[in-house]
Amino acid sequence: MGATEATTTEAAAPESSREPLYGLDRDGLMAALAELDVPARERRMRARQIVHGVFHRGATDFDQLTDLPKTLRTRLAQHFHLVRPQVVACHQAADGTLKWLLRLDDGQEIETVFIPGGGRGTLCVSSQVGCTLSCAFCHTGTMPLVRQLTAAEIVGQVLHALDQLADWPRSGRPRRLTNVVFMGMGEPLFNYEAVARACRILLDRHGLGFSRRKVTVSTAGVVPAIDRLGRELGVRLAVSLHAPDDERRSRLVPLNRKWPIGQLLEACRRYPGGRMITFEYVLLAGVNDADEDARALLALLRGLPAKVNLIPFNPWPGSPFRCPDEVRMRRFRRILEEGGIEAPLRTPRGRDILAACGQLRTAARRRPRRRAA
Ligand code: SF4
Repeated sequence: MGATEATTTEAAAPESSREPLYGLDRDGLMAALAELDVPARERRMRARQIVHGVFHRGATDFDQLTDLPKTLRTRLAQHFHLVRPQVVACHQAADGTLKWLLRLDDGQEIETVFIPGGGRGTLCVSSQVGCTLSCAFCHTGTMPLVRQLTAAEIVGQVLHALDQLADWPRSGRPRRLTNVVFMGMGEPLFNYEAVARACRILLDRHGLGFSRRKVTVSTAGVVPAIDRLGRELGVRLAVSLHAPDDERRSRLVPLNRKWPIGQLLEACRRYPGGRMITFEYVLLAGVNDADEDARALLALLRGLPAKVNLIPFNPWPGSPFRCPDEVRMRRFRRILEEGGIEAPLRTPRGRDILAACGQLRTAARRRPRRRAA
């Protein structure tokens, strides 16, 4: 971005050569204002006005930022845009789950899911197109990594959901979207810089204003980045565990070969603030759902501020796994709870809309192009 000679009559560059402004955190915005020749004494105030307009009131056009001088609005529009990702498909399940397939500027597609219920609304965002890893039970794991998402593409998913839900903070109504989880397509800690910047944008108290307790980063176990996440951001941590021993976990989550369970749990113990850590555990019939597996899990997590989310396996075409029956899953849960660990058994959400991570994108790619658009 070069700034200096811009005038109010100068035409804006085509959208493809402009950046989405919502990908800038506060420091990035201050630097951008400096490049646009905004005087140093005004920058802090202008940044706050922009953050408030874009993230609190949901502006989609710089002309809506009426507390800024017209010349600054024009300059911003010459270098940035506020356009949301394009919606390729939207599915609403009978249980209220909403799943969107979104298209990015380069034509790549990602999934974003909104899950209402229990007095809150959780948005599950993607952090990569495809995934670096290939967890055996995960449909996204069958896709190669295409590329990392930028911070703007991550934040764009949240802005899109807020538009669709008419849920901008300025409304003053009880919020529908209360939590954001990095649990969509991709391993967020293999895209640390973009994810960290997106978190800082979500946490900005003059903008979207999420508290650290309402933003969760879920990892398959990138140990060095867990330490960094705790030190730099302190958001909530979720860990995809899925097996109580290294032999089985390495088969289900191949990343375990690099950072085995012992190292992973040590990183969890170091995670700051004694915050509750959520361990995700997909229940797979005959693989990890036996009574002794529940007891081994209890022993493993002893002494950690841990909660276990039990997730019934959500089948996808060609997967080699089955979901255990209700009786088995309830028994597994009871053993954990009798051992003192909270272990909610998640209700499968949105099964009627291909809600398993990655399914919608694959289905859309199988359809002829004109029907997918
Ligand atoms: S579970 Fe997460 S990390 Fe593993 S393959 Fe799926 S998207 Fe990637």
